Amino acid sequence: MIREIQAKSALHFHGNLTASNWDVNIYRGCGHCCIYCFARYSHSYLEDADFFGDIFVKTNIAECLDKDFSRRSWCRDPVNFCGVTDAYQPVEEQYQLMPEVLKVFIKHRNPLVLVTKSILPLRDIRLISELARVAQVTILVSVSTLNETISNITEPNSTHPAERLNMLDRFREAGCRTGILMMPVIPYLTDSEENLREVFELAQKTGVNVIEPDILNLRGSTREPFLNVIKKEFPDIYPDLSRLYKGSNSDKTYQNNMKVLIRKLYREYGPWPQYVPPERIDDSPKGQQLSLF
Ligand code: SF4
Repeated sequence: MIREIQAKSALHFHGNLTASNWDVNIYRGCGHCCIYCFARYSHSYLEDADFFGDIFVKTNIAECLDKDFSRRSWCRDPVNFCGVTDAYQPVEEQYQLMPEVLKVFIKHRNPLVLVTKSILPLRDIRLISELARVAQVTILVSVSTLNETISNITEPNSTHPAERLNMLDRFREAGCRTGILMMPVIPYLTDSEENLREVFELAQKTGVNVIEPDILNLRGSTREPFLNVIKKEFPDIYPDLSRLYKGSNSDKTYQNNMKVLIRKLYREYGPWPQYVPPERIDDSPKGQQLSLF
């Protein structure tokens, strides 16, 4: 079910994200249906709503964002798309909210960080490149493996990972910073040295500014549906995987071993700097943060 709703404001402050302190979510819910999706919790206050099937469309999001960016207290901090949904999920083909949103970014010369599993941003490359001429734009693609068979099961409605990564070339040429979020690395499924090496090699070839692997987290409502799919589709790894996750994180020894492997790959294929969030533009009133109320 797709339901149109009116947002009251666009910007949400988190203060705990690596990409940016501010999020805009133009949809609620996400049709990419990734089995490890951590964002399911954002639907939990809606009784009976299905995060993957019930998509809420904030049809007035561009107006709200324009209002938020027009406040005198707004410091043009980088804004992250999206925290708990993908702005370029399938429904965006129909609603086309992003072109209007990008025009608001251009008007206010506001830095943008976009994280996606889609190649639909290519539709808006002209606007994104126009924005990159007046503010910093970072395009981050999320992939956990280049293996199509695994990806078809774990991220059934997203674009094939190799296509997502190839898209980064176009955005680099358009003046954007680019990066790969290798998230999540799924223990026993996508955590082999061979799998990580394949993505690091491509990252090196593509010339991305950053690559960040992160191990699967199974917090809250993610755990049960994720393990159910693993049990059905990858029964061989299910016993070990469920033993590894007593809580939401994998056990410490496993994490330490993965850190050693990831450091080795950074040394071989890097150097890549630690992820540095884009800078805010400095010609607005200093030292104030937007009050949304
Ligand atoms: S793209 Fe992101 S928000 Fe959408 S289902 Fe996948 S993990 Fe969840």
